[in-house]
Order: sequence, then C-alpha cells, then structure tokens
Amino acid sequence: MGVVGERLQPTLFERSHPGRGGGKIPHPPADALARIPEAARRATPPALPELNEPEVVRHYVNLSQLNYAVDTGFYPLGSCTMKYNPKIDEWAARLPGFAGLHPMAPDAVAQGTLELLFELEAILAEISGMDAVTLQPAAGAHGELTGILMVRAYHRDRGDTERTEVLVPDSSHGTNPATATMAGFRTITIPSAADGGVDVDAFRAALGPRTAAIMITNPSTLGLFESRIGELLEATHVAGALAYMDGANLNAILGRFRPGQAGFDVMHINTHKTFSTPHGGGGPGAGPVGVRAHLVPYLPSPRVVREDDGTFRLERDGERPASIGRVRSFTGSIGVLVRAYAYLRAHGASGLAEVSDDAVLAANYLRARLRDAYRIPFDRACKHEFVASASEIRQRTGVRTLDIAKRLIDKGFHPPTIYFPLTVEEGMLIEPTETESLETLDAFADALIEIAGEAASDPAVVTSAPHEAPVRRLDEATAARQPNLRWRGMTGAQTPCPD
Ligand SMILES: *Cc1c(COP(=O)(O)O)cnc(C)c1O
Repeated sequence: MGVVGERLQPTLFERSHPGRGGGKIPHPPADALARIPEAARRATPPALPELNEPEVVRHYVNLSQLNYAVDTGFYPLGSCTMKYNPKIDEWAARLPGFAGLHPMAPDAVAQGTLELLFELEAILAEISGMDAVTLQPAAGAHGELTGILMVRAYHRDRGDTERTEVLVPDSSHGTNPATATMAGFRTITIPSAADGGVDVDAFRAALGPRTAAIMITNPSTLGLFESRIGELLEATHVAGALAYMDGANLNAILGRFRPGQAGFDVMHINTHKTFSTPHGGGGPGAGPVGVRAHLVPYLPSPRVVREDDGTFRLERDGERPASIGRVRSFTGSIGVLVRAYAYLRAHGASGLAEVSDDAVLAANYLRARLRDAYRIPFDRACKHEFVASASEIRQRTGVRTLDIAKRLIDKGFHPPTIYFPLTVEEGMLIEPTETESLETLDAFADALIEIAGEAASDPAVVTSAPHEAPVRRLDEATAARQPNLRWRGMTGAQTPCPD
C-alpha cells in the first residue's frame, strides 16, 4: 500500500487463503458447469481473494472506523457547514415512494414527489426573498454556473453584448471565478478592504458598461456580513449589471436577511450545507437557484407546474422558449431535496431563525475563547464562522497552521479548513455550526489553546504530529496529483482488473 500504520490492516487480497470461502452457499449441482455454454466459460478462475464471511465483515467494519465523520465527532470545517444531520431526514429520503420512484415515471404516478418539489421551491423562494427557484443544479458550484448562464441569457436578450466581465472579491470561493470563466466571462478580482469587506472604492472603479455581474458571498468566506452591501448592490444596478449572491453561507442569515429583498438578482443555496445532507467526499448535493422576476423566463426547464385542478406536471419541451434548458438529468438530486424539505418542515420559520442564531453564537463564542492564543485578523462580531491565524506562532516557534491541524487529530478533532481564504496568512477557517454543545466547543477551544502552548514549549511534538492517527503525514501533493488507489500485488491475467 505504501502507507503503513498500526491501525491499518492488510488488504483482502493479502489475507486471502486459497480454498477458504464463505462456505455457506449451497454447492452447485454436479453438471452446473456443463450447462453454461463453452464460449461463456472462463479459462481460469477469477483472481478474487478467498476469505470467510466474518473476516470480510470485520475487514470492512474496521476500515469504516478509520473514517472521521460528523456522526463520530466535531467537524469544524469552515465554509463546508458540517453540521449534524437529523436522522429523520434520512428516514424521509428513504421512503419507498420517493426512493423507488422511476425518474421517467409519468407525472400521474409521481404526484407526491412533484408536489414536494413544488412546495420546496416555494419555501426556498420565501427564505431567499426570490420570486422563483430551480431545484435542478447538483451542487453549489453547478448552481453558480446555472445562475451565471441565466445572467448571460438576460443580457443577450436585451442585445447587451458588450458585458464580458464578472467582478469577484479576492476572498471568494474558487468556484466563483471558475464559474465566470466556464460561462465565458473574464473574471475581475476585487481586493478586500482592511476590515475584511469588499473594497468599495476598488469595486466602483472596476464596475462599468462591460460588467455583466458581480458575485458576492454574504456573509463572506471570512464569516463577515458585508456591511456596505446596500451600496454595492445599488452601484451594480446603476451600472446595468446583475448581482449574484453565493448563498453557501445561508445558515448564518436564515430569517434575518433575504438576499432577493435586499436587491440580489440571483443566488444559489447549498441545501447539503444549510439544510442537512451528509456531504463531503464529493456529493451528492443540490444547489437550487433563486431568481428575481426578470430572470424567471431563463430558469432551466422543465419546471414543475401546478394546474388549475391542483395536479402537478413537468413542463413540456419548448414550453418556455427563453429557458437556458436542462442543466441536469431529470428533476435534480431528489434524495437531497427530500432531506431539505423534511429539515425545513421540521424546523419551521422560527426554528430556522434559531439555527442561524445558534450558529452565530457558537462561532462568536469560539472566537472569544481563542483570542488570547491565536491572532484573530478580523476580530469583530462574526457570523457562522471566523478566521484565526497562526502567523505569530509561526514567527515565534516555526510551527505552522498545517502542523496545528495535524496535532488536532491527536486530540480527537477533525481540523478546521486551513489556508483558506487565501487572503489570510497561516489562516484557519473555523465553523462550529449550530448543532454542537457548549462542552464540545469548550473541548475544541481547550485543544487549540493547548497546542498553542505546545508550540511554545515543545514545537517538535506539533511539527511531527499526528502521533495517534492511522497514518502519519502523507505527501499531500503526491497524494492529490498521483493518487494510488489500487492494490497492485497481482500481475497480468491474475489481476481482477487488469491495466
Ligand atoms: C461550498 C461552497 C461553494 C461550492 O458549493 P458545492 O456545493 O461544494 O459545489 C461555493 N461557494 C462557497 C462560499 C462555498 O462555501
């Protein structure tokens, strides 16, 4: 495997004993082989490992326990909103009527699912202050692309073809400039001001007849509410551009700030972050996009339509000619959308406002507790997350943020997001979420404070961490660029999946 550690175990191939098997499958009749046509028979048996059932079960259960998960511990990964996901949402998503519905089932037998989607659109429109919502996009980044494609269609329809630029603050998530580029725009990066907000003067200077849209994350990726948002939006509209809000941080403002009402034209929502779907490791997710009235004609098709008799159906091909078309197969990530619906219904309006209040309280509590041990670059009231920095610790002791993150693993915690946003030196983006108890927050703060102490008294213990994890430090660049995901102990025809 190339990586070894005490708690790692051999692969099933290495554990294999020829001739050993589950042994519980009834023996086939003597002529079984003869009944299979010669041409369909293997020349040699497949090179599968041979083990008995308990060995296989224990192998996989032990492997699964090497995983860190939000169901096993605190997961303060900033920007990702790794909250605990209520199990009742999982129950709802697994109801056979939703989980077993064929994606091509006729509308008449899909009424329940269509109604759920229709209602979910309405709830998300209300929360976001938008006029309509599409549930199709498969993730936040996909929602961004969908939104910006609608912006492009809007300008084109008006014959406004000179708008080729999208303004993006330097603290933005990498998906924002990537989206603008994918949609054919040039990204103009706007610097941050000293208080962490968008530099309004630089913003005004960049805005003009070539600006198609601005993309703003609010609260920002520093966890700060954009205090001059009204000015930014007004200037955008005066310049004839549209305002896109990256709504990944919606869990901080539920029931307190409605982007559509504030003047944003379009935004996406990461339902897997804000409205509970276990995520990380690549999905599935859902990135619904809300728009104001002037963008409704461009929404992806098909939308769910309610007929006068109260039944639901999907739009027919070509029914809304200005639509940007499909952005995903069928009607979206249904399981994720059912979870979001269940979460929203269970919380209700007042429960959702409480979610935000608690997320904000937890982040501010941690910020205050860490203030003496770490530098807090923007040490003012934050929303759901905040940045701490180890830049001073590094100057004094040589210990870097990466080392601190690794040492946290020894203390039983998943590290926070590190080195993001890129604008903060030795930064850690910490997002506790609303679902953690005071005891957990305190234990995490204690661990980080302890590590700051170790950095001063015994830096080697930090720089050589983790000491307790299944694997020590990986070469992260090689692991990312040349991942070695396959066991190659067998060669040639022996290998179950030859090269
Ligand atoms: C997570 C995130 C995204 C991307 O969302 P995905 O669902 O992961 O594609 C975009 N912007 C911000 C600020 C985010 O935190």
